[in-house]
Amino acid sequence: MASSWGSFLQDERQLQELARQAVDRALAEGVLLRTTQEPSSSDVVSYAPFTLFPSLVPSALLEQAYAVQMDFNLLVDAVSQNAAFLEQTLSSTIKRDTFTARLFDIYKQVLKEGIAQTVFLGLNRSDYMFQRNADGSPALKQIEINTVSASFGGLASRTPAVHRALVLLIAQEKERNVFDQRAIENELLARNIRVIRRRFEDVSEKGSLDQDRKLFLDGQEIAVVYFRDGYMPSQYNQQNWEARLLLERSCSVKCPDIATQLAGTKKVQQELSRVGVLEVLLPDQPEAVARLRATFAGLYSLDLGEEGDQAIAEALAAPNRFVLKPQREGGGNNLYGEEMVQTLERLKDSEERASYILMEKIEPEPFGNCLLRPGCPVRVVQCISELGIFGVYVRQGKTLVMNKHVGHLLRTKATEHADGGVVAGVAVLDNPYPV
Ligand code: ADP
Ligand code: MG
Repeated sequence: MASSWGSFLQDERQLQELARQAVDRALAEGVLLRTTQEPSSSDVVSYAPFTLFPSLVPSALLEQAYAVQMDFNLLVDAVSQNAAFLEQTLSSTIKRDTFTARLFDIYKQVLKEGIAQTVFLGLNRSDYMFQRNADGSPALKQIEINTVSASFGGLASRTPAVHRALVLLIAQEKERNVFDQRAIENELLARNIRVIRRRFEDVSEKGSLDQDRKLFLDGQEIAVVYFRDGYMPSQYNQQNWEARLLLERSCSVKCPDIATQLAGTKKVQQELSRVGVLEVLLPDQPEAVARLRATFAGLYSLDLGEEGDQAIAEALAAPNRFVLKPQREGGGNNLYGEEMVQTLERLKDSEERASYILMEKIEPEPFGNCLLRPGCPVRVVQCISELGIFGVYVRQGKTLVMNKHVGHLLRTKATEHADGGVVAGVAVLDNPYPV
């Protein structure tokens, strides 16, 4: 089986460094053995030997081995209950092999006495190797089944931690929402996935790419980069832009990659609402297109030209029906009412207007609730809510290998605020009460 770790295996210095880190990790994870010198004391222990890289196993064979395990359990259990089969099968063996004979004596004795045990607990391990069939396809071939003292189930469950990915979380130095991020870090740690928090500055100072564009930070290879920074212009200086470029040039999995970040711009949102655009992007998926379109509010381009002129005229005639949005994230950037009118008047004849979009103002029905904030009086105010649904997907090359929804967020704010999120002190966290 070819190794995908080829480039590592050729770089001696890198290999040494990786091995050093992996050994520390194995020790920290408790992948341990007593030493041959002191097998009855844990005063001195060392790491249980392990590979530096996970070895490739055809996934079909892995699935096959899993799928057949319950059958092997059934089979072992059936054999153990069939005295005639055991006796007949082992009759020649026990004549020659004293160990098996001793075991068989005990078996005979308890059979005669009547078996007192009523619950049977099997912990088997069926072992295989992989071999090519004549046609070249890989085959799973059983070495043996272990029905007694099948070992390494304990340590094997810890070794994935040694081989797992390292996630780099790009964080801001000053971050009030740190506990939201810590919750994700803790969840990853609970799954034995290590996370390091670094700033863009750290990446530009210590990050590098190797010849395969693998990303290294402090000598460790980074598998996944998760951005909780870099969505606003104020979060970048020249150094940070260079760090962002370095991360993007690497083969690490970026969450999100730059194209996906761009796909979330308000300009893209506006273009997606244009007739026929969804159909081009998602061909052969008319049902998805219909479901998507049903959620769209009115969106209007402000690009120079007749269409943009008309949108501006409508917004100026009825300012309360529209929101003016620049290409910004993070809340507090949108313009409403008089502010929108002034901005539109100023931009009307300049190309700068194309950096905004116009959106129909959504008018949710207000309801009463109490918004609790530290140091604020408790009182009922008129509120509106905004529901967020989290989605996650993984694409490998051109193949979508995972796509699912993973929960929701409900934020509620007083009707007097047009814009602003939880951290800005406008909205508060809420939960939907389905009715
Ligand atoms: P941001 O990227 O800054 O979060 P949004 O488009 O989500 O920008 O707008 C910020 C807030 O402004 C929203 O949370 C919502 O309260 C309000 N808002 C945005 N668009 C509309 C709209 N079309 N109608 C009513 N309120 C809106
Ligand atoms: Mg928003």
